Amino acid sequence: MSIKNRLLALIWRKNRTARKPPVPKLTPEIWRYLERLPKAEIHLHFEGAVSAPVILELGRKYGVQSIRTLSDAEWRLYFSNARMFFENFLYVSSLFQEADDFHHAAADLGRRLLRENIRYVELTLAPYKFMRSGIPYQEIIGAIDAGLCEATNGMVDHRYIIDIVRDLGPVIGMEMIREVEKHPVERVVGIGLGGGENFPPEDSAAIFEYAGAIGLRKTAHAGEGRGPDSVWGAIRALKVERIDHGVRSREDPTLVEYLAENQIPLNLCPTSNVMLGVIPGLEEHPFRYYHERGIPVNTGTDDPAFFKVSLTEELGKLIHYLGFRPEEIPALIENAIQASFLESSAKQALLTRFQNETRPLMREGSLSGGA
Ligand SMILES: [Zn+2]
Repeated sequence: MSIKNRLLALIWRKNRTARKPPVPKLTPEIWRYLERLPKAEIHLHFEGAVSAPVILELGRKYGVQSIRTLSDAEWRLYFSNARMFFENFLYVSSLFQEADDFHHAAADLGRRLLRENIRYVELTLAPYKFMRSGIPYQEIIGAIDAGLCEATNGMVDHRYIIDIVRDLGPVIGMEMIREVEKHPVERVVGIGLGGGENFPPEDSAAIFEYAGAIGLRKTAHAGEGRGPDSVWGAIRALKVERIDHGVRSREDPTLVEYLAENQIPLNLCPTSNVMLGVIPGLEEHPFRYYHERGIPVNTGTDDPAFFKVSLTEELGKLIHYLGFRPEEIPALIENAIQASFLESSAKQALLTRFQNETRPLMREGSLSGGA
């Protein structure tokens, strides 16, 4: 650890309680309503959802000197800028050394999804870095799948998006997609584009074309680190069906119009955007702006272990900071289901179940009133 990071660690340990983002102030009735709503999330990274207790267990298992207490593990989830976030994100990933570690972390995640009444999740995973340390792709997916299924007992349906990290270059990206093709897994339904947006989407066009030809659905992170050009690139060069973030799309009114006209979903993560400095504060987040222009927006937590946010809290923030009425929230969850890469019959069944369960709760939501 560098001297600067040692100093940051000392400061962090002193002010630990002040480091959590504020939890919105809502009435107990509204919290109860949000907790009871069945939910779906399609912008969630496996690597960003590894909790501090799991980090601690992995640290102890492999005798990592710098991870001996829960506080050590929590420090690995702290960041003061985007660079530190990416460094810690990769550090947490580096703790995974065998398939059982994935099983364990996935089971921990599954239990949290269940507690939050999340019924469907699309989990993004960038397996290449793990494969490079010698864990085969099929073992990684198999272990995560077993962990999730066991912990949720089939109560949380899930699918996977394989993330292509653009920083690694198109050759490795293509290698990754051929690995996915070689080991077909029913729940692996899509391909995503992650990593630094200074590598334009156009670089990955051939990978996405290939992914489409082998039946994978397509999404990409765009319009977060860079502006509308990146979103346009994802749409035109990669032919994505939806955008992860796209929060900076409003810088180009023609793009906003295009997204609305073509009903291209934006998987927005307000807390992530604020914590990584993309948006100055939650009150300024353009979530409602896009919603009012007819773009199908949904809410995700992105990397909840780092951003210290649950999906329920994220939905609460829409009410508290952006003036959504509680009874408007189910439509946003429904947007996530609609934008999901579920096969059409499974999607229809999930939607019907969701609407049947939500209708009586919505009456409760409207009685609770706004916040
Ligand atoms: Zn993301």
